[in-house]
Amino acid sequence: SSIPKIVILGAGYGGVLTSLRLQKELNYNEADVTLVNKHDYHYITTHLHMPAAGTDHPDNARVSISKLIDEFKIDFVKSTVVQIRPQDRKVILEDGTLSYDYLVIGLGGESETFGIPGMAENAFTIRSINSVRLIREHIEYQFARFKREPHRTDYLTFVIGGAGFTGIEFIGELADRIPELCKQFDVDQSLVKVINVEAAPTALPGFDPELVEYAMNVLRKKGVTFRIGTAIKECTPDGVIVGEGEEIKSQTVIWSGGVRGNRLIEEAGFETMRGRVKVDEVLRAPGHENIFVLGDNSLMFNPEGRPYPPTAQIAMQQGVNCAHNLVASIRNQSLKPFVFSNKGTVASLGKGEAIGMAFGKKYKGRVAAWLKKMIDLRYLFIIGGIPLVLRKGKFL
Ligand code: FAD
Ligand code: NAD
Repeated sequence: SSIPKIVILGAGYGGVLTSLRLQKELNYNEADVTLVNKHDYHYITTHLHMPAAGTDHPDNARVSISKLIDEFKIDFVKSTVVQIRPQDRKVILEDGTLSYDYLVIGLGGESETFGIPGMAENAFTIRSINSVRLIREHIEYQFARFKREPHRTDYLTFVIGGAGFTGIEFIGELADRIPELCKQFDVDQSLVKVINVEAAPTALPGFDPELVEYAMNVLRKKGVTFRIGTAIKECTPDGVIVGEGEEIKSQTVIWSGGVRGNRLIEEAGFETMRGRVKVDEVLRAPGHENIFVLGDNSLMFNPEGRPYPPTAQIAMQQGVNCAHNLVASIRNQSLKPFVFSNKGTVASLGKGEAIGMAFGKKYKGRVAAWLKKMIDLRYLFIIGGIPLVLRKGKFL
């Protein structure tokens, strides 16, 4: 047919927002839209630290895609993308091929290990429902193992690599979970160690120093040890090597040292920096008028020339802009440049505790925790309206 084909890769924050906006803005038979995702659910990445630590069930961090999109307007294909072929305008899936006129790439990031030996093989990462289920079960298993081999205190040592927001939010939850696990497995809590190793001279580098200090004090009170200014050099099956060769023995290393773009993008021949495409002002890959790149797969610079950090917030706003520009492209109208509107950052530190910067102000403690909840509820409302807020909101 002569109807333009739009293919959206990835149902993350960017892909879902693009799909929702397209199904609203496109007229009947104006385009064929296909959304491809590895799983038949969308995961709420910003909630994954909870199921990872076991303070919430993994199901509360995912939503079935059929409940989000209108399948009369958008074809959903549950499959894994294995190759993108811009020259042929084709996408190769594990079980088929799709051709497109317009492509949206929103496959999300991958963990960045910076080539640290053993990291990819021996550490866990907080990235998906599958990865957090594994962490949750693994942590419980260490408590059970310890009861059979009480000399193995390394079973009770938990190392978190990196004190970015992912590491800090996870530590907040883990520190809340440990007293519960100690009770459940009859373990003396003083034997359990949660150690955060951060290479930079501070936790949360770049964030407001007063709030960083507050966060570290909250977490220290819950029993967390910080090793700041200490880089992880290697990860082995027995633990990590840090600084100048010191070994920390641990059976559980969680790597939250950074994210990069997706390997498929480099393999497709796009010019990338750490797996991200430096997009133009309307979110297209340079040299490709029909390919838009969103979220963790894209790289954009603020007016001061610094890259925007990869967040759900920017991915969502890009999704809205991308849908607008797809519709404009089809209608031969002019495209709208993307302008990021920063709403701030709020990070949780466990139950009832958080820190944040929003509306030009600092927030901490209960107020910040409440703000975090409002942000999460707002997201549920944006993607699924009141029914989704009622179904999932009580868990946040
Ligand atoms: P993603 O949301 O990662 O989605 C990518 C999608 O593509 C997924 O559905 C995936 O299954 C699918 N996919 C991947 N590969 C394939 C393939 N080969 N074939 C088919 N499908 C595929 N940001 C904030 O702004 N606020 C927060 O509070 C916040 N909290 C966070 C907490 C944690 C624990 C983590 C890890 C991140 C957090 N972030 C937060 C960052 C935020 O989650 C990411 O920036 C955001 O998810 C990026 O969105 P995206 O659309 O680019 O990709
Ligand atoms: P990040 O890149 O922000 O932080 C990684 C940390 O690991 C850095 O502090 C870095 O110095 C440290 N590190 C790197 N190599 C190391 C080594 N060898 N040894 C020890 N430490 C090392 O990654 P992230 O925390 O996963 O965050 C990714 C993105 O998601 C960011 O843009 C972040 O803002 C966003 N995010 C936001 C929230 C929130 O808003 N609540 C929560 C989670 C993530």
